[in-house]
Amino acid sequence: MILYNLTCPSGHEFEAWFRTGDAYTEQAASGAVSCPDCGATEVRKAPMAPRLGKGVAKRQDALAQLRELVESQFENVGGNFAETARQIHYGETEARPIYGEATAEEVKDLLDEEIPILPLPIKVDSDA
Ligand SMILES: [Zn+2]
Repeated sequence: MILYNLTCPSGHEFEAWFRTGDAYTEQAASGAVSCPDCGATEVRKAPMAPRLGKGVAKRQDALAQLRELVESQFENVGGNFAETARQIHYGETEARPIYGEATAEEVKDLLDEEIPILPLPIKVDSDA
């Protein structure tokens, strides 16, 4: 028996067992395989995307968590990020974790001065 992930023209995904791959081809061609959601018989094998999708979602969760942590524990210095990071690095202001925005130019300068900074992942939430 073979388990196939199938999809219909409306994008419903479902699983179905077939004795062989040929049996699937035959049954699908004769309209014997139908979508349990809408009854469509023009089904096809779904690409093995769900596995990949899960991995991507997990990664986005991790990035979102990192961002949440930073936003809840770090001080937001907004557009003054480069200046404040530099002051902290040279001991001109209280050392503390900060985050904010910097231009590509500012980031390059900071890295040139060997000031340790990390890019933050952009927000992936749709409510951003
Ligand atoms: Zn369907």
